[in-house]
Amino acid sequence: MRILLVEDDAQLGDGIRAGLKLDDCSVDWVRDGEAARLALPVHAYDACVLDLGLPKRDGLSVLKELRGQGNRVPVLILTARDSGADKIAGLDAGADDYLTKPFDLPELQARLRALIRRAGGAAAPTLEHGGVVLEPASKRVTRDGQPVVLSALEYALLYDLLRHKQHLRTRSQIEESLYAWGEEAGSNTVEVYVHRLRKKFGAEFIRTVRGMGYRLGDGA
Ligand code: CA
Repeated sequence: MRILLVEDDAQLGDGIRAGLKLDDCSVDWVRDGEAARLALPVHAYDACVLDLGLPKRDGLSVLKELRGQGNRVPVLILTARDSGADKIAGLDAGADDYLTKPFDLPELQARLRALIRRAGGAAAPTLEHGGVVLEPASKRVTRDGQPVVLSALEYALLYDLLRHKQHLRTRSQIEESLYAWGEEAGSNTVEVYVHRLRKKFGAEFIRTVRGMGYRLGDGA
């Protein structure tokens, strides 16, 4: 999952980024409202964590512009303590959730998972296809009830395909979603990991759509 983090506080931003990376998210971190405005249309982010008090342009105006453009990316706003008015203004401007500083990182992680899940139209906290079950909160994967051990990239690819199981995923979409591991992602990374997942879950588990990309099989 790819998250845009907009936070000008270096220490807080650093902590959030580190925490989300542990949660299998790739994080683009910008530190002012103008940079956020420029970054948001560039990638199909799975969610945005948006501080409201920002240099150059405040978070509320970034949010209003985003929604004005019809962008429906899930947005969680961060508000300062004692700023009830900000919270209300943020929710009215189209924020999906909020947290008041200071907050616990696990709570931010859980709220983001819930937001992304709802945005994907899946109410259940687990993702399932063809006997393969992935539980994002614990990162547990099972096949027909038996635990399956996956490397970080195998897990990331499986998570991506399961979250979009109704849709074809192009290679570049998958690459974007694996971007957190970009330093080791070569030109054939996607093919390599598709191959590995097929070895674990069967050749039919992932279908190749020639010249276009991949999608999960019919789930026999
Ligand atoms: Ca701030």
